[in-house]
Amino acid sequence: MSTLLESIARIRREVCELHAELTRYGLVVWTAGNVSGRIPGHDLMVIKPSGVSYDDLTPDLMVVTDLYGTPVSSISADAVPARWENPDLTPSSDTAAHAYVYRNMPDVGGVVHTHSTYATAWAARGEDIPCVLTMMGDEFGGPIPAGPFALIGDDSIGKGIVETLRNSNSPAVLMQNHGPFTIGKDARSAVKAAVMCEEVARTVHVSRQLGEPLPIDPGQIESLYDRYQNVYGR
Ligand SMILES: [Zn+2]
Repeated sequence: MSTLLESIARIRREVCELHAELTRYGLVVWTAGNVSGRIPGHDLMVIKPSGVSYDDLTPDLMVVTDLYGTPVSSISADAVPARWENPDLTPSSDTAAHAYVYRNMPDVGGVVHTHSTYATAWAARGEDIPCVLTMMGDEFGGPIPAGPFALIGDDSIGKGIVETLRNSNSPAVLMQNHGPFTIGKDARSAVKAAVMCEEVARTVHVSRQLGEPLPIDPGQIESLYDRYQNVYGR
C-alpha cells in the first residue's frame, strides 16, 4: 500500500517517460501531444506541462491536477511538490479534455492525445477507420470511430470523446478535424493505443491506394477481440 506522495512520484515518472514513446514513434511535432495518468484511488491526475519541449521533460515538471484540471498546489496542502509553485508551469492546454474523461470513465487510468499524421488525416475527413486488419480486431474490436467536431475551451472535446468511446470497443477516437485521443487502463496502455492507432491508420490508408480493403466479418472481429483481450491477456 503506497502513500499518496509515493503514487504521485510513480505516476509522474511513468507519465514523463512515456512522452519519449510519442517521439520514438513519430506521433508528435514540437510540443503538440500529451500523456496523462490517473493517481489510482484519488481524484487526481498527472499531465505534461504546457509548452515544454519533449527533450526537457523531467518527472518533477509533470503537473498534478484535480479532475477538473486545477493544479493541486492551490487546493491541497498535503501534496505539494516545489515545482508546482512555478507560475510558468501550467498543465497542457488539453487538460480539460483529459480531466473530463477521468471524471466520466472511472475505469480509465490513462489518456493520450496526438496529432499523428495518418490518424489525423482520417480525422480531417471525419471518417471511421474500417476494421479490415486482424490487428485492428485484436486491439480495437471494430472500427476506430470518428468523434464530433469540438473546439477547445470548455467540456465539448471531453464530451465528444466520452460519448463516442462509450458506444465502442475502441480505445481510440478520431476527433473530427483535430486528431486522435486514446484511453487505457493506465497511461502505458493509452500510449500503446495511440501507437497502434497511427499504425493501422497508415496501413489502411496505404491499402486504399490500390483498391478497397476487404471487410472482416463482425463475428470474426468479435472472436479476434475476445481472444486478444481475454485469452492472450491485456
Ligand atoms: Zn490537439
